[in-house]
Amino acid sequence: MIKLNEHYTEIGNSYLFAEISRRVNEYRNNHPEKKVISLGIGDITQPIAPAVVDAITKATAEMGKAKTLRGYAPYEGYDFLVQAILKHDFTDRGVAIEADEIFVSDGAKSDTGNIGDILGVDNRIAITDPAYPVYVDTNKMAGRKIELLPCTPANGFVPAFPETTADVIYLCYPNNPTGTVLTKAQLKPWVDYALTNQSLILYDAAYEAYVSEADVPHSIFEIEGAREVAIEFRSFSKTAGFTGLRAGYTVVPKSLTAKTSKGEILSLNAMWRRRQSTKFNGTAYVIQRGAEAVYSPEGQRQTKETIAYYMQNAKIIKSGLESLGLQCYGGVNAPYIWCQTPDNMTSWDFFDLLLNKVQVVGTPGSGFGAAGEGFFRFTAFGHKEDTQEAVERIKEVKS
Ligand code: PLP
Repeated sequence: MIKLNEHYTEIGNSYLFAEISRRVNEYRNNHPEKKVISLGIGDITQPIAPAVVDAITKATAEMGKAKTLRGYAPYEGYDFLVQAILKHDFTDRGVAIEADEIFVSDGAKSDTGNIGDILGVDNRIAITDPAYPVYVDTNKMAGRKIELLPCTPANGFVPAFPETTADVIYLCYPNNPTGTVLTKAQLKPWVDYALTNQSLILYDAAYEAYVSEADVPHSIFEIEGAREVAIEFRSFSKTAGFTGLRAGYTVVPKSLTAKTSKGEILSLNAMWRRRQSTKFNGTAYVIQRGAEAVYSPEGQRQTKETIAYYMQNAKIIKSGLESLGLQCYGGVNAPYIWCQTPDNMTSWDFFDLLLNKVQVVGTPGSGFGAAGEGFFRFTAFGHKEDTQEAVERIKEVKS
């Protein structure tokens, strides 16, 4: 008989968004006449920038001609995209990264999930709570021990250092789900902690494009010493609407090393290259051309306009909820608003209340971890009109 990886029994069956759709579908079946507005799952609603669409169309035409056809892409990404990333995301911002430290991929979910392939099972892992579920679930799948670092209003959503020294620390800023950030001054102690304890920081910067305040870093590599301790994950999904196109990249500095049980010191950059070349066959050429176009002047202007549109929604949600006396966090440097539920309701009770009374869907905070209980996440990725209507409807519940 086939033996299962038993660790899969520890992560449960129901992925948060599957349970949300189950409840919403049940409601829709019972009330087909009602219009449900979703400010739940963090997916985009605005069309992809014309500059990106044009680049993908042109690249697709190239694939139809023998002379310009491209087959398998390089594992680490085409040089045209790597150079664009390097210039715009790092060099122009005064951050020292080299081309062979950048690995283009099909998105940050794969990379944050797969990075564990090159890390030993007996590493002690620290993960902020609440968190994007991939970090906890993939470490559980591998059988690793996890210490959760609560992020709540009591600590201003700045995690305290782990009680047991961690070998690997997951940090995600701007944060999903809380929408909160760490300033450069708040991130520096984490880099120092990792330098002192020889830990690795896995820094998920998928929402970097939403940073609006000057003291908030776009990259952990803006912090002195980070090249010695951090891997950074980036995504074109929320930056430029690539959730359905799929592209991201991971930066693995050549200065990072890890030890084998025999005491050998090996390069994490070399190991990640080895992992990717074995299990990944490159991001599609046409998609990489689309990603390159994000960095063109028109691409930059158009994608920034879309981000401004979403952040206008964030303002509408935040000010609407605050006018009801609800305590809200995030929504300034991130497209998420993290709201305390009224009257100490549980996250799922508040979910059911909003769905049943005013047909508004959000995401229960407890689905992101125990410290998310009593909170609710709204996303700014909706249409403006729907967002406005949802807020007006929530006001009816409270009145
Ligand atoms: N990291 C965080 C924190 C996210 O919220 C998401 C998507 O919601 C991802 C990574 C996944 O990004 P991608 O679409 O590039 O796989």
